[in-house]
Amino acid sequence: MADSDRHLLLSRIRDVPDWPEPGVVFKDITPLLRDPAAFRTVTELLAGIGGEQVDVVVGIEARGFILGAPVAHRLGAGFVPIRKQGKLPWETSTASYQLEYGEATIEVHRDAFTPGERVLIVDDVLATGGTVRATVDLVRGSGADVVGVGVLMELGFLNGRDKLADVRVEALLTL
Ligand code: AMP
Repeated sequence: MADSDRHLLLSRIRDVPDWPEPGVVFKDITPLLRDPAAFRTVTELLAGIGGEQVDVVVGIEARGFILGAPVAHRLGAGFVPIRKQGKLPWETSTASYQLEYGEATIEVHRDAFTPGERVLIVDDVLATGGTVRATVDLVRGSGADVVGVGVLMELGFLNGRDKLADVRVEALLTL
């Protein structure tokens, strides 16, 4: 990425300390989404991670929807939402993973993928990696192929990649 793009993106990500709980520095991307140049740059760079052979972009609720949908549009691909438990209206496949305290479950519609389809997974932040790990497992469990994971930023100190050794993960920014 060009230095100017990197500086632009970094300048549009707002750190919010102690939100949603003490000790967490929340990476707020609303200033980035509000800036047409920054939003377009992120969309183009994430689409570049997928390359031309992407059939479906998967977006992880909720900020992965905002970034993933324009990436799908740009690639001429379809879009599939991965949602938190209980939000999708039809039959679902589910995957659960550990949080620091407790467990989370994500879901996808059972007819979301055709076996062999090439899937790019998109989200805003890769933190501990649990969410992306569960998403990769859901997509593969449906018979589709994960060609890569594209995130706007990776929190390197949380070592999320350790859970994702079997998949190509690209982050536009590593913090
Ligand atoms: P994880 O499963 O720990 O990798 O967490 C990833 C999910 O949580 C992503 O969908 C992010 O949107 C969200 N997330 C985790 N940590 C942060 C953070 N510091 N700032 C903003 N979003 C975060």
